[in-house]
Amino acid sequence: MADLNGGPARPLGPMQWGEEMQGQLEPDEWEFYAEAIQSWRAWRAVELDGVLLLQSITYRDIHWIPRQELVADCKKNDNYKRDYPHCAPSIRHGCGIYSLKNAEDVNFWKNYPTPTDTIIYGRSSIWGNVFKYTKGYISQYAYPSYLFTPANVGVELKHTVSAEELRMELSRTYVVEAEIA
Ligand SMILES: [Zn+2]
Repeated sequence: MADLNGGPARPLGPMQWGEEMQGQLEPDEWEFYAEAIQSWRAWRAVELDGVLLLQSITYRDIHWIPRQELVADCKKNDNYKRDYPHCAPSIRHGCGIYSLKNAEDVNFWKNYPTPTDTIIYGRSSIWGNVFKYTKGYISQYAYPSYLFTPANVGVELKHTVSAEELRMELSRTYVVEAEIA
């Protein structure tokens, strides 16, 4: 397993968060994947109506539903969206499902936005229309494929689950392997 503790995580400003983290576009910038490829990302674990769910770190209203693929949807609310209705992912608008090529790059996400959150990281299967960058991808579909759960649960969930219960519960509901990292 890759070493994911190679240095302190630093907080990210909004401009470093999205597209800039993906690096530069690859020369063959787009590909359609009928079969999933693997990438890395991070989530926030939250409890909703008694169910532990993986939530987007940047969008509090996006939840990765267990046993159902996440489908890209344009969540940006700006002039571009109003003037140019489009499908997601959109390379011009930068909307879609973000993930990274290397586990090491997920370090930047691990303590974002606050240490009170319970941050899960791991691999994600991505497929469909995929834009390729030097450091990551923006995809049409995604589903978690392997989870690393924290040894210490964040303040928000601390009174709800232990670290081992969190690992077991996420593994069971998402039907993926999970280990405490
Ligand atoms: Zn868009």
